[in-house]
Formats: sequence, C-alpha cells, structure tokens
Amino acid sequence: MRWGTVAVFSVGIFALCLTSCRFESQAPQDRKREWQRSQAKSLAPAELSKGDNSWSIATALRVRIHVGPDYIRQRRDWQPAIEEQIKRVNEWLRRTLNVRLDIEGLEPWPREGSLGDMEAAIGALQKVDDGEGADLVIGYVGGEDATLVNFDNLGRAALLGKHMLIRAMDDESERRAIEAGLDALGTEERAELYRSRKRHKESVVFLHELGHALGALHARDKGFIMHPSYHHDMQDFAPENLELMRATIKARRESLDSKQLAASLREVLAGAHAAAWVTGDRERLEQQLSQLEAGGEAGASSAEAEPTTAEPTRPGTDLSALDEADRALFAELDGAVASGEQGKVFERIEALAERHSGVYAVQELLCRSAMQLGTTARRVRGYCKRMSELALELQ
Ligand SMILES: [Zn+2]
Repeated sequence: MRWGTVAVFSVGIFALCLTSCRFESQAPQDRKREWQRSQAKSLAPAELSKGDNSWSIATALRVRIHVGPDYIRQRRDWQPAIEEQIKRVNEWLRRTLNVRLDIEGLEPWPREGSLGDMEAAIGALQKVDDGEGADLVIGYVGGEDATLVNFDNLGRAALLGKHMLIRAMDDESERRAIEAGLDALGTEERAELYRSRKRHKESVVFLHELGHALGALHARDKGFIMHPSYHHDMQDFAPENLELMRATIKARRESLDSKQLAASLREVLAGAHAAAWVTGDRERLEQQLSQLEAGGEAGASSAEAEPTTAEPTRPGTDLSALDEADRALFAELDGAVASGEQGKVFERIEALAERHSGVYAVQELLCRSAMQLGTTARRVRGYCKRMSELALELQ
C-alpha cells in the first residue's frame, strides 16, 4: 500500500489544471479564467468544523515545543509561524473540546542527524525532553516531501503519549503547479489558494497527531481528520474519536491514574461502532490499555507509525493491470521519488509509463516526478498529459 502515491491525487488535480494550455488557442481568455476559477474552487480547502461546544469544562494543556534546525532553515519566521499555527488550532480546540494549548516553551532544538527518519526523530525528542511537567512535547522538523499525504510522513505521535512531531508544510512543487496551472488568475488569488491550502494542511496534521496523543485512532471514513491520508476536504473528527479524546482530556484534567484512564477509554471502546476505525487500530489501543492497567507507561513504546491497514479509498490506485515484476518496479521507483531521487530513476519511470499508458497510478508517478525534477512548465505539461486524461475518466 503506498499512500504517498494515492494521495498525490491532489497533485494530479493540479496537473489537470496544467492542461489548461489546451484552451489557449481555442477559447477566449475569460473562458479560460472562468474554467480555472472553478478548478481553484475545487482545490480550496474545507473550513474546519465550527464545533458544538457541548462540553463545558475548560482545560489547558501545557505544551513545550522544540524546533529543529531543518525547520528553522525552511521557515525563518519560525517563532511567529508556530505561534500562529497553535492559535488556529486552539480556536478549533476551544470550540470543539473546550481545551486550549498553552505554550510554555518554544525554542530551537539542537539536533544532529537527518530529518528523514521520523521514528529516530521522535526517539531523539523523547531524549531531549522527557515531558516531565508538561502535557505535550512537540518537535517541529523540516518538510521532506510535503506532497505526501500519508499522515505518518507528515507528522508522528505516540498513541496516548506526550510526544509528537510535525513537519514544515511548505510545498514548492504545489506552489509552482498553482502558478503554472492557474495562470489566468490574479497573483494574489493564486497566492491565497496556496496559503489557504497550507494553513489547512498544517492545522489538520497537527490535529491528527494531537488526536493520537489523546487516544484517537485511524478512522475508516476518508472524510474525517483521523483517516490515514490527508485530504483538503477534511474538517472534523468522527464522534467515536472525539469521545476517546474527551475521555483522555478529562483524565488528565482530573489527574486520574493510568488504571482509571484505561477504564474510561475501555468504556468508550465498548460503546463504539467497531467499523469506525481501520483494522488493527482498536487492538493497538487495547494493548496500550492493558499496559496501562499493568502499571506501564502509555506511549512509551507504541509510536503511531505502523503502515495502516486501511483499504485505499481513492480512485486511481489500481495496479492490477501490471504484472508482478512491474508492480515491484513501480514500488521501487515510487520509493525513489519519495526520497527525492527522481533524477536518478526518471528514465526508468518514463519506460514504465510507456508500457502502461492506461494506468493512472503509473502516469501519476511520471507526472509527479517530472514536477519534482523542476523542469519547464511546458515539459511538465507533456509528462502530465496522459494522467490528466485518465483523471478525467476517473471523475
Ligand atoms: Zn495517524
């Protein structure tokens, strides 16, 4: 299962926009602008839900934040940027859970090593700050490939733990795709579309990881924030996950011991619809609760990182037309692109795409790697043409 690819469906939509060049010779400028505006509308992110505020006891969670050097390199205004991000998240938390995050520390995190390995990074975060006296310890790390939508690549959190990681969400390839694909729109209109998508992704990734820290599990329904892969339409948590989060917050506020916390979470699990969550996640929480009941530490060992077992629910991920060898090749090339090595494998991707001109996922890989190569817009359009045609067939 490769959520990275599935997901870059959104990039696919951008590439669809890139095909707007077709209109240049045959349609007046205003028709093109009209069409691009409707595309921009479909790419605009959802507003996060307003919340029902039905839970009336306010709780403050003490947060310490450590900001990695790679994040600081990417975001020179890292302090106000993070404060702004927490402020937006707080608005949603207040309306929905009556909780707010109080920043008690926001400082650079002197850290060695590559930013690619999230698992190692969360271990390093636990070493630098054991969480004593805080409710949450958050590490910010640089963005590796923000076009990915698998939450496990965008952030990381231990289930019921105190530690979580968030990546920078700046996405140069998305910005360039908006510039090139919606060229009939005004500069400010395009900039605002990019900014609003980034803000939405930042808030949703933060809430997803915070959700895990508060006991929420991966939701099966792709419309919910706890679904394993990000989408710009996300705006809310499933009711079952809100219940888990409320139970954890209540336990923290009332300083309940781990056995009492486990008991109240078990109560929520017992009353919830099992189909709400992806296979295996409920069991993972139950194991965690057994550890708590046995007097162990929550979140110490079970970072949320397991590849999800959810079925892919987006169109365009079907590889059944490929034989086993090409499927393995696809996985290899996709992995190479995800680690930024598109330059080394591009010719092989082109050859694979030639063999499978009717397979969306393969054409999408070609388009995405062409975008990441940083070649000219005209060449990218060429590489993305077939994928755009297939995308239209999928809609
Ligand atoms: Zn997750």
